[in-house]
Amino acid sequence: MKQFKSESKRLLDLMINSIYTNKEIFLRELISNASDAIDKLYYISLSDENIKFDRENFYIRIALDKFARKIIITDTGIGMTGEELEKNLGTIAKSGSLQFKNENEKADDVDIIGQFGVGFYSAFMVADKITVESKSFSSGSAFMWESEGPAGYTVTPCDKTETGTVITLHIKPNTDEENYDEFLEEYTIKSLVKKYSDYIKYPIKMLVSHKTPKEGKDGEFDITYEDETLNSMVPIWRKNKSEVTDEEYAEFYKSRFHDFEAPIKTIRTSADGLASYTALLFIPKRAPFDYYTKDFEKGLALYSNGVMIMEKCKELLPDYFSFVKGLADSADLSLNISRELLQHDRQLKIIASRLEKKIKDELLAMQKNDRANYEEFYKAFARQLKFGIYNDFGQHKEVLQDLIMFVSSYENKLTTLKEYVERMKEDQSVIYYASGETADKISRLPQAEAILDKGYEILYLTEDVDEFALKMLFKYEDKEFKSISSSDLDIRTDDEKEQEKKAAEDNKDLIEFIKTTLSGKVENVKLTNKLKSHPVCITNEGELSVEMEKVLSKMPEGGGIKAQKVLEINLNHPVFEKMKSLFGKDDEKLKKLAEVLYGGAVLIEGLTLESPVDFANTMLDLID
Ligand code: ADP
Repeated sequence: MKQFKSESKRLLDLMINSIYTNKEIFLRELISNASDAIDKLYYISLSDENIKFDRENFYIRIALDKFARKIIITDTGIGMTGEELEKNLGTIAKSGSLQFKNENEKADDVDIIGQFGVGFYSAFMVADKITVESKSFSSGSAFMWESEGPAGYTVTPCDKTETGTVITLHIKPNTDEENYDEFLEEYTIKSLVKKYSDYIKYPIKMLVSHKTPKEGKDGEFDITYEDETLNSMVPIWRKNKSEVTDEEYAEFYKSRFHDFEAPIKTIRTSADGLASYTALLFIPKRAPFDYYTKDFEKGLALYSNGVMIMEKCKELLPDYFSFVKGLADSADLSLNISRELLQHDRQLKIIASRLEKKIKDELLAMQKNDRANYEEFYKAFARQLKFGIYNDFGQHKEVLQDLIMFVSSYENKLTTLKEYVERMKEDQSVIYYASGETADKISRLPQAEAILDKGYEILYLTEDVDEFALKMLFKYEDKEFKSISSSDLDIRTDDEKEQEKKAAEDNKDLIEFIKTTLSGKVENVKLTNKLKSHPVCITNEGELSVEMEKVLSKMPEGGGIKAQKVLEINLNHPVFEKMKSLFGKDDEKLKKLAEVLYGGAVLIEGLTLESPVDFANTMLDLID
């Protein structure tokens, strides 16, 4: 007996003891493996003349033996050698699923099974013993893999003359909680095939029994058997639109793209003319666990007349729509076109650009007509859209600017830029924004108070990429974006400006003194009347904001880049009066006051103090 690799063993344990209610998916997994195996043989037949691919001889067969409690699934695909049986069935290929489980200790079995569609092993949810007999197209001999679960497996030679694989599941006995008998019913199998595997392009055959009443004998029947093909074999995207229900699209999506949830949006679109195609696109509800990592590969499956020629064609999707799953089927593409040629294919470029437009239009429509779902989508993929604006020097901002949203001070909800602009006050010329950790923290920044008081709306930027994206956009409908933390923010009346100017002149020496005290920490010190209840705030001069400094400092090469900070002092605040009274009389104390005010403002901005101990000591000194 051979041992499973430890990861596989864990996964098997999980399967065997699973409380997953959707155990029926095992059939879909085995059928799709069988179909892949036939596909593989078909590819090889394209270039190897010794292999004849005769459609008639390629099928999947399901047989039921109710009394022996067996389901037998046969395919005429590529088969596996003895080594392949070990390699493929002794180790789990999708180590990502266990990795995911490690990282998310609270994720339960249901998540992991549903999310990864764990393939062959899912059969252990319904079977207590599995036998796989296989003969590879490349080998003269056949082998049998057998296992009763985590204890291990055996691989032994067996008799099998035709190329392909036969999988026998020994179905578990019923328990109080679980009914396994149902999987031995023709009716169940027929409906599962219809539900999950109807589009499989090879026939899925089964001997189906028919009862006919015996003539003249009430209550007695003749039973005859007939070979039936259970699936329609028509790919779902080639059926008439009116024949396909939303549920069917959702089931197709889940099984084809390994998601456990229905997509938030299904888009089916086709075009004729320069490039004719049909595309079936899905927008997932959640980002896959590896979405924001470099392991994630974007792309649509590419078909030529119903035959898949590439699993992930990345040329069909721009990076900012990389979350879209789906496929495109075009009759204009040649079957054995090479990957290199494909990259330059004009048809493909046309299809890609039309799909991009379609995706954008559908997202905008969803934003307008189905806001709750759009917000859910946006929660999952906002970062990607915002990066899309920032990347490639802003080349794609036109496509994306209407799709992004931010929480704003107006109702504390997500708003689009268009909605913001529509609400702008008559005397307002710019779009205000502020960055910070949370909307709540930003709304309590000293510099937000006066702006909100004037009835202007502020966009709350809480993600690292946000401010970079807005800087790249620069304007929306001719309205510039303005950070409320920039030192040249101008919301004052002429009178107020006059007051500021005068105060600056009158207190020139004091300002200079504070500037010297805080040298190395701030670039500049200013008097302001834009603050209300707060004595001071930190703003920035120039392009780089304090928030951007924080983001950059987290990057490997971004450290050392500093925003030019300005300490603004509220000239109407009692603290300023205090400063004036100390100046020239008790300069030591004034210095300490300046340090503490600066330290407090730094903390409000969410920055860290160079020396918290000094800050605390200085504060204590001031008390007596
Ligand atoms: P996945 O299909 O996602 O790779 P599975 O655990 O379902 O994961 O299968 C592991 C591997 O075993 C497959 O990638 C394939 O190489 C092989 N395999 C499974 N079923 C068959 C089959 N019916 N015929 C040939 N190879 C198969």
